[in-house]
Amino acid sequence: MNILFMGPPGAGKGTQAERIVEQFGIPHISTGDAFRLAMKEGTPLGVKAKEYVDQGLLVPDEITNGIVKERLALDDCKKGFLLDGFPRTLQQAEALDVMLAELGRGIDHVVNLKVDRSLLLARLTGRRICKTCGTTYHVLFNPPKVEGICDKDGGELYQRSDDTEEKVGTRLDEYSSKTAPLLDYYSGKGLLREVDGEKDIDVVTSEIAARLKGTL
Ligand code: ADP
Ligand code: ADP
Repeated sequence: MNILFMGPPGAGKGTQAERIVEQFGIPHISTGDAFRLAMKEGTPLGVKAKEYVDQGLLVPDEITNGIVKERLALDDCKKGFLLDGFPRTLQQAEALDVMLAELGRGIDHVVNLKVDRSLLLARLTGRRICKTCGTTYHVLFNPPKVEGICDKDGGELYQRSDDTEEKVGTRLDEYSSKTAPLLDYYSGKGLLREVDGEKDIDVVTSEIAARLKGTL
């Protein structure tokens, strides 16, 4: 199954993607994770991406599209994939259509996690991530058993440098102006599956799984 996850920053895409890929046995492709890894390693891609990510701006399409094209061509994507946080512009969506056509593939479902803007600031400023395995927590809404420590592997939790109040405003504006219009693009193709992302994490997972299986 070939799936896209859309929704504003903080909607729960990463949290839900971790769970859905486990259930469906497909790889999780996150452009945000790919940029953060490249930035940590200081590769040429990371140096370029950092200029934008640190300001809360979208990385230019030509850089982002290249990463996705290389990743989708790997063998493990033959059984399907979950793209989390890509595409985020109309140009990326059109580039993705071309990439998939070249591979003889298509998109099966575009899941849109709907969360009101008023909730997103609290979700993003309270987000914490494991340094070693990348599992996402929230200080209030999804806390680890021991503060600051990952339940899965005991890794230290950190806060993303773009999860500050100041950067979140820019990121939400980028979403509204450049990414939200994509919902019409996919709705027009009959691929859009709207899911209420404000419910409890487990409830949202069940609803997404049901939409993907066509039982809801
Ligand atoms: P995204 O990948 O869309 O930016 P995340 O999955 O990282 O979003 O979630 C953002 C923050 O909100 C994280 O701290 C996460 O633990 C928390 N969160 C995710 N889903 C929910 C939910 N359904 N209810 C409450 N908090 C949530
Ligand atoms: P969130 O879901 O919380 O917004 P991500 O981890 O998906 O965060 O993205 C973090 C940052 O990485 C974005 O603010 C942006 O700078 C960059 N980024 C991720 N995906 C894309 C994309 N498809 N196009 C452009 N920039 C991207």
